[in-house]
This record gives sequence, structure tokens and C-alpha cells, in this order.
Amino acid sequence: MKEISCKLLVLGAGPGGYVCAIRAGQLGVNTVIVEKEKAGGTCLNVGCIPSKALIHAAEEFHKLRAAASGRSPLGLSLDAPAIDLKRTVAWKDGIVGRLNSGVTGLLKKAGVKAVLGEARFVDGKTVDVETETGVQRIRAEAIVIATGSAPVELPDLPFADSVISSTEALSLKEVPQTLAVIGGGYIGLELGTAFAKLGSKVTVLEAMDRILPQYDAELSRPVMKRLGDLGIEVFTRTAAKRLTADRSGLLAEENGRPFEVPAEKVLVTVGRRPVVEGWGLEEIDLDRSGRFIRIDDQCRTSMRGVYAIGDVTGEPMLAHRAMAQGEMVAEIIAGQKRSWDKRCIPAACFTDPEIVSAGHSPEEARAAGIEIRIGQFPFQANGRAMTTLAEDGFIRIVARADNHLVLGVQAIGHHVSELSATFALAIEMGARLEDIAGTIHAHPTQSEAFQEAALKGLGHALHI
Ligand SMILES: Cc1cc2nc3c(=O)[nH]c(=O)nc-3n(C[C@H](O)[C@H](O)[C@H](O)COP(=O)(O)OP(=O)(O)OC[C@H]3O[C@@H](n4cnc5c(N)ncnc54)[C@H](O)[C@@H]3O)c2cc1C
Repeated sequence: MKEISCKLLVLGAGPGGYVCAIRAGQLGVNTVIVEKEKAGGTCLNVGCIPSKALIHAAEEFHKLRAAASGRSPLGLSLDAPAIDLKRTVAWKDGIVGRLNSGVTGLLKKAGVKAVLGEARFVDGKTVDVETETGVQRIRAEAIVIATGSAPVELPDLPFADSVISSTEALSLKEVPQTLAVIGGGYIGLELGTAFAKLGSKVTVLEAMDRILPQYDAELSRPVMKRLGDLGIEVFTRTAAKRLTADRSGLLAEENGRPFEVPAEKVLVTVGRRPVVEGWGLEEIDLDRSGRFIRIDDQCRTSMRGVYAIGDVTGEPMLAHRAMAQGEMVAEIIAGQKRSWDKRCIPAACFTDPEIVSAGHSPEEARAAGIEIRIGQFPFQANGRAMTTLAEDGFIRIVARADNHLVLGVQAIGHHVSELSATFALAIEMGARLEDIAGTIHAHPTQSEAFQEAALKGLGHALHI
């Protein structure tokens, strides 16, 4: 058996693992990273990037269809547009391929040794990797677990044939005529909306009493309206049961009333589970927090020298959280003093319209016993939004009532994901309403609604 030793061994090359390895390499730490599939993990290969590519292609096609139907308010017209999903998927795969090579190149540039194969714990300092050329034993002073997450399967609807997860949905060869989406969270709604725009008849089944339960009703309402405009039927308080006998549809139950949903494909997006089983993690018996690996504010697990980052450590399961943890842990292992000191982790939901949330919502602030004031500004009163047909939505700022410190910002609207960094920066820098109101925002931009929301919070908005 071949053996190598290193200071840092990273397990999994998703956004958490590869960022950790690159940063460690930059700092001169002798680092090895092990990946069983492809560099970039869920995010780059079957998550964030491919889903946003599909969403963009679907939006472009939808606009063309609107123009072809003579409904374009801009006066555009054209003849019957068509889509070749195989070419769309090939374009998406091209982007993924470029990013894969980019990550591999960055690891190399940082002097990180990459090993392809599945890792298995032997003990807290030793891992065996099943590679193409045999088992490679790796001994390390510190190990970072960054093995990510996988889609949750429903016992009565296992992934096979017409029952698919987001991974298969991102590589379909043809647009299904009918699509049932189980789960009204962000992944199901992003993909369901994309397929509706590509021409599928989409039905969403959600067990809770509303979609996007992590956002307040004011934020999810415009998305709900848009789903209706796109012809997507949404059933809440509804349980998906199993496929029909001829497998052409799905049996569901709404408040005890059984009904059938036509479904050439059934997309199951009921959550993701941490990848903590089947690769020897039980050998080192780490403390858990529910299904996830328990960590402290330096991402240390219950075993000395073993760290965990990213989706294996729990919510929010987001790529940028994994990356920030990875960078921090690399610096700790290199001897720097670091701990998790972030005030917020912004979240962007790429539905139509998009939703962004950073920091506290009004309910969260009130629940923490803080007296707040809210400044909210609608895109209907924003000139740039009018010129881009993007008047749905608003920006809302939650600030302390006493000193106007910004606690949270939420927004819904066209491309508001691009404002998420502005919101997070304001919170991290400890901005007050006066700071945002006193910053000149370029005209005409949607970001002016942020300044106006701050002015509204101070009681003197100018354009409403
Ligand atoms: C459809 C979809 C859309 C998403 N959209 C967004 C978005 O817009 N924004 C966002 O922030 N997040 C999004 N996410 C979530 C995001 O992808 C994850 O939060 C992120 O990838 C987590 O990073 P990670 O490094 O923890 O794990 P992962 O990206 O899951 O990477 C883990 C890696 O470890 C490898 N691995 C596992 N076990 C072993 C082993 N034993 N040996 C070797 N390698 C192993 C895996 O092959 C994988 O490459 C989306 C997810 C999905 C599914």
C-alpha cells in the first residue's frame, strides 16, 4: 500500500473543501485534497451553477415565447421560437467543465496535491483512499471533513426512471410535458419555474401550509403570484404518495382528499442530508448535532485535529458559508487566530422574482426582544425597475429603533441577488440607516430603492 503524509488533509473538493485547500496551500501548509467525483462538488457540478444556467436559458426562451405570442409590451415580435434542450444542457456542461478545470488549476497553483478516489477513515489521523491504481494511505496532522450533502429520497418514491432529483433534472434531454415537483423549497421552485418557462405543465406539492416557509409571507407572496401567472399549480398541505399503477402520474392527498397529478417526471426536492455514512466516519465517532457533525466557532469537531465545514455541519446549507468556513479553517491550521465572527450569511433564492435575505427578519428581531423600525420601498416607485419591466417587489430594512443600527435587509425583485453583497456589507460594517441614506446611489439603478428604504425608515423617503 502506498503511503503519504501531510500537514492538512481535506476530504471533499466542493466549495468548502477546495477553498480550504487553496487557502492552506497559499499559506505554505503541506496540503492534500481527496475527491471521489469531480472538483467543485455539488455547487459547481449539480447545484448552484448548472441550476442558474438552466434558469437563465429558460427565462430567455420564455421572453421569446412572450414576444411570439404578440404579448411583448416592448413591441417585439418574432415567429415560433424553439428550444433544443440537448444543446442547452451541452452549453451548461461547457460552463461546468470550464469551472472544473479552473478549480483543478487553482489547487495546482497553490501547490495542493489532489487525489482522486473515495476516502475512508481508518482513525482520526489516517485515511485510506480507493484510487484507480490501488489503495493510497494518507496520514495527516489535521483533517477537514467537507463531504457535503446529497438529496433526500422518499421511501415510497425512490430515485429511478421518472422519479428524479435535482441532479437528473439539470441534465434532461427533453423538456417533459408534465412535471410534478415534490417540495416547495427554493430548489424545487427554482427548477419548477425554469421548466414551466421551458414549456412543461408544472404542479408543485408542498406538505406545509405555504411555499418557501423560511421566508415571511410578504416575501413569498410575489413568487406565489408569479407561479400562478406561469400556469404552475401549487398544492399546499398536500402529501405525495406514490406513482400511479401505469407510472404516468403521481398519487397525492390534500387534507385527506386523494387526487392524481399527471407527471412524465417527478422531481423530488424535499431536502438534503449530510454525507456522513458509508465511508468510515463511524470509526472516529464524532459528536453530532441532529444528523449533522457538531462544530464549534472554529469548525472544530469533538476530536482534536479533526475539523468539519460546509453542508455536513448543518444549516444554512449554502456554498458561500462552506467557502467562508473553509478559508477560516485553513488560516487556523496555518497558525492564525480566527473564529467565526460573521454577523450574517446572506441567502439568495433564484425564483421569479428573486428573494434575498441578510441578517434578521422583522419577526426574528422582535423575537429577540429588540424594538425595531422598518423602512420599506417598492420597486414600483423606482425608475430603473420601470424601464426593465421589474416593478414587482421591494427592499425592506430592519433597524434598531434606538440607534438605527441595521439588523437585517430583505428584498424581492428582478435580479435582487446582485444586491445581496450590498446588504451583507451594510450589516457587517455596522451601518446605521443614516449611513445608507447618506450614501449617493447611482441613478438610475434598482439599488436606489435601498437608499430610499433607509430614508423611509428615517421617516423622509423622497420618491414615495
Ligand atoms: C440544485 C441546487 C442548487 C443550489 N443552489 C445554490 C445556490 O444558488 N447558492 C448556494 O449558496 N448554494 C446552493 N446550493 C447548495 C450548495 O450546492 C451547497 O451548499 C454546497 O455545494 C456545499 O458545499 P460543500 O463543500 O459543503 O459540499 P459539496 O459541494 O456537496 O461537496 C462535497 C464533495 O465531497 C465529495 N465527497 C463526499 N464523500 C467523499 C469521500 N468519502 N471521499 C472523497 N470525496 C467525497 C463529493 O463528491 C463532493 O464533491 C444548491 C444545491 C443544489 C442541489
